[in-house]
Amino acid sequence: MPDRLPIVVAGGGPGGMAVAVALAQSAFDVVVIEREPEFPVDLRAGSFHPPTVEMFDALGVGEAMREAGIKVPVWQVRDRRAGVIAEFDLGLLKNDTPYPYRLHVEQHRLTRFLGARSDDLPNLDLRFSTEFVSYEQHDDRILVTIHGPGGTETIDAGYLIGADGGRSGVRKQMGVEFEGFTWPERYLVASCVYDLARHGFAMNAYIADPVEWAAIFKMPHNGPPGLWRLAIPVQPETPDDIALSLPFVRERLHGFQPGLGDAEIPYHSIYRVHQRVAKTFRAGRVVLLGDAAHINNPLGAMGLNSAVHDAVNLAAKLREIRDGGDADALLERYVRQRRGVTIEFVQAMSIRNKRLLEERDPEVRKQRLDELRKTAADPKAAYTHLLGTSMIASLRRAAAIE
Ligand SMILES: Cc1cc2nc3c(=O)[nH]c(=O)nc-3n(C[C@H](O)[C@H](O)[C@H](O)COP(=O)(O)OP(=O)(O)OC[C@H]3O[C@@H](n4cnc5c(N)ncnc54)[C@H](O)[C@@H]3O)c2cc1C
Repeated sequence: MPDRLPIVVAGGGPGGMAVAVALAQSAFDVVVIEREPEFPVDLRAGSFHPPTVEMFDALGVGEAMREAGIKVPVWQVRDRRAGVIAEFDLGLLKNDTPYPYRLHVEQHRLTRFLGARSDDLPNLDLRFSTEFVSYEQHDDRILVTIHGPGGTETIDAGYLIGADGGRSGVRKQMGVEFEGFTWPERYLVASCVYDLARHGFAMNAYIADPVEWAAIFKMPHNGPPGLWRLAIPVQPETPDDIALSLPFVRERLHGFQPGLGDAEIPYHSIYRVHQRVAKTFRAGRVVLLGDAAHINNPLGAMGLNSAVHDAVNLAAKLREIRDGGDADALLERYVRQRRGVTIEFVQAMSIRNKRLLEERDPEVRKQRLDELRKTAADPKAAYTHLLGTSMIASLRRAAAIE
């Protein structure tokens, strides 16, 4: 790649901003184009795993994220009627990570902290209200056409990174299939000013139930009783406008925990959920990461964590290429590593998590919950389980893929 050419990142979401900061810190010229007029207030992700928190340090946002977030050292799997089935203490990982907890903080805070890094990085050019239009590949460069407030422009770039989310226009232009499926139910996510801890809930808990499973996360909030986010399924026959109406939301919350439906609900929304992985993450000088490359259900909190893992991995490969490494070989290794663990870990685990929570066959349900109870009770098995659920195992696996 000619030395002076910038790298264009399509999409200023958390994945795009992570790769942009990682590259700009390594003295690359980076242009980020974000369609929205400012970073969107996206409330989807809220739970970060220990290795991702370590990566925040390398991206210069570790302290800000830890200060803004809630540290969650213990999470539970529960049965909606019988209560706690298994409790996992991330303290078991204290020799594997300096941050043995999940960090709860809204994803738009991460994006903003990353965006603020541009104050110290003059080579990070952030352009809002600017959309990716198309690209044209050449042997030694890629021409990226964008459209922003000043009109249409073509950037002579070294690489284009598609970090433009699940409906990625970059992926579509690559003509790469987004293989997988969409779940029939949507997820209703409601944030309530209420203290679920007084009913025995850990700050992160997954609640199995054959009729209505749930996932809960305590989120940052000014003072007691705290803000608790609850995700529950909405069946296909319920239209969005009904599912989003407050009486419907309150009734469901009451059903989960009497009194919860009376709480203040500062925000609630509904999401369609998919399991999809792009057939490849790369075509020549175009590389995909984050939701543009893979999407999964949020049970286990792995989507955005994976986007950050992709970003850090890809930035390292681009550094090696600049230092004289073989571009084709290195970018193909990125694809093998990140696509490999997406399929082997993230897709498999998120599907398994959902199946565990929603299982209807009483025998299978009992067997799975009993297995989990045993795992939690055996420190060795619990440790292995935590390496997997905290995404440490997937990163170690990726590093071992040649
Ligand atoms: C209910 C729910 C809860 C979740 N909770 C978690 C969690 O706790 N932990 C976790 O790890 N993950 C979680 N996820 C997943 C997480 O939200 C996503 O994986 C994450 O947002 C992916 O980040 P991204 O930057 O790849 O994509 P996005 O966040 O989708 O960002 C893409 C950006 O690209 C911009 N864009 C799109 N098209 C263009 C274009 N043509 N030109 C310019 N810009 C464009 C968009 O405006 C956007 O800003 C959750 C998902 C859901 C639905």
